[in-house]
Amino acid sequence: MAISEAVVRELRTVLDDGDVLVERADLIAYSIDGTWLEARPDCVVAPRTVQQVSAVLRIADRERIPVVPRGGASNLSGGTIPERGGIVLNLAQMNQIREIDTGNLLAVVEPGVLTYDLQSAVRKHNLYYPPDPSSLHQSTIGGNVAENAGGLRCLKYGVTTKYVLGLQYVTAAGAVGRAGGRVIKNVTGYQLDQLLVGSEGTLAVITEIVLRLVPYPAYKRTALAAFPTLEGASQTVVDVTAAGVVPPALELMDRSAVTVVEEYLHIGLPTDAEAILLVELDGGHEGAIEEEMKRITAILEQNGATVRLAKDDSESDDLWLARRSVSPATAQLRPNKLGEDVSVPRSAVPAMIRRCREIAARYDLLMPVWGHAGDGNIHPNLLFDRRDLDEVERLQLAAAEIFEAAVELGGTLSGEQGIGLLKREFLGLAVDPTSIAVMKAVKRALDPNNILNPGKIFPEGEGTRRIPVQLALSGHGAGEAVNASAPPVS
Ligand SMILES: Cc1cc2nc3c(=O)[nH]c(=O)nc-3n(C[C@H](O)[C@H](O)[C@H](O)COP(=O)(O)OP(=O)(O)OC[C@H]3O[C@@H](n4cnc5c(N)ncnc54)[C@H](O)[C@@H]3O)c2cc1C
Repeated sequence: MAISEAVVRELRTVLDDGDVLVERADLIAYSIDGTWLEARPDCVVAPRTVQQVSAVLRIADRERIPVVPRGGASNLSGGTIPERGGIVLNLAQMNQIREIDTGNLLAVVEPGVLTYDLQSAVRKHNLYYPPDPSSLHQSTIGGNVAENAGGLRCLKYGVTTKYVLGLQYVTAAGAVGRAGGRVIKNVTGYQLDQLLVGSEGTLAVITEIVLRLVPYPAYKRTALAAFPTLEGASQTVVDVTAAGVVPPALELMDRSAVTVVEEYLHIGLPTDAEAILLVELDGGHEGAIEEEMKRITAILEQNGATVRLAKDDSESDDLWLARRSVSPATAQLRPNKLGEDVSVPRSAVPAMIRRCREIAARYDLLMPVWGHAGDGNIHPNLLFDRRDLDEVERLQLAAAEIFEAAVELGGTLSGEQGIGLLKREFLGLAVDPTSIAVMKAVKRALDPNNILNPGKIFPEGEGTRRIPVQLALSGHGAGEAVNASAPPVS
């Protein structure tokens, strides 16, 4: 084992015995995430307090043991894969909602609170926490902050970063700090809280979060628009926002995504349409929403859609369930899935979708496309079987072309799922050398021994732009002893 028995004994002096796991069967459960990648840690610890997080990090930093913070492990970037072994820091037991402050419209939570649990708790006070990833029953607020999660309702409400007012964090060396606060306006020094948003567990461990809340919208209206062409649907996204209407959600699913969800849920989705758009409007005045829905319906119909308005909350819930189910439903088609997450200016959505279709056809790959089209955040999902080497090679080439297309169209590699292991070799495609050097300097300043989630975000290969499909075979997952210490970030 790469971690000595003495270190395990020491960890057991700072945590409850049952909160330190080293048995093989336990470790296997912590070797996977939302991707197909696998690598086994040497040890899993589940702290219950910030003092315990700090004590674990002090030991790990002294011993140069990699530490991988982990929330719900629903990430789609390989972000919680302990590629270099070491300690998985499971934050699931730090799951208390400490405060809901209705006067100041904020909540204070521990990082392991599930996204859905927070949404439900604040709803009882007629308040709303809008960031809404489809994984909300599995993902944690700590993971959402570390990935700057988005979801279905970002067009009007924005992504997680907009809701983070303050954080408590622990540095790699075990020091505890607070960044931001409980105030809306704050320019007191660098915005360290915002620096940690989207940092993918590489800069510090987040142990408490102060979140902004908004009033729960009194009225909602959902429409489903079925289009005879994918182009019509993607053009509508541009036309709706150009008309000055900003719906909370404007979600696109292409025909293959619609078909697979219908086969999964049987709720009467229009499988003969080439694409559908789901539109949600919300607000405090019913009349204003009806008026806006009329304007949007006119635009949808001008672009060739047949429009169905959900008649009640139950039908609306079914439609949103359909959208949330695309990802699990597509798992039935092929054993593996590369869920891409490119982000382009909204006006480039039609071109991006055309490029995706052309790439999928050229490489003969199944690729349902869906996504938060209103945000310009498209999820082309490349389905494959990693045992089929020819298909894997085509996947590699297709993925690289999708990233290149997104960047050429003025966009970037990830809208909400992060870089992690999967896209690290492509970082230089979207981020210039000066900015990569600045990012590395920040990493070195906060984590000089490179123990926090090493190997994530920054390229490891020598210029080879490839997705790490075979990590499970070459990494720690095969069970060999590894040298757990990581080289510093160069
Ligand atoms: C079916 C499905 C649908 C999804 N839909 C969406 C979607 O609509 N929108 C979206 O944005 N994402 C989506 N995702 C991706 C994923 O759910 C998000 O990235 C989510 O934010 C991850 O939360 P988590 O708690 O599972 O984090 P994890 O997967 O456990 O961790 C994610 C990253 O955060 C780090 N981390 C976790 N907790 C902490 C902490 N306390 N301190 C420091 N670092 C930490 C980890 O090291 C890792 O790098 C989806 C995933 C699935 C499987």
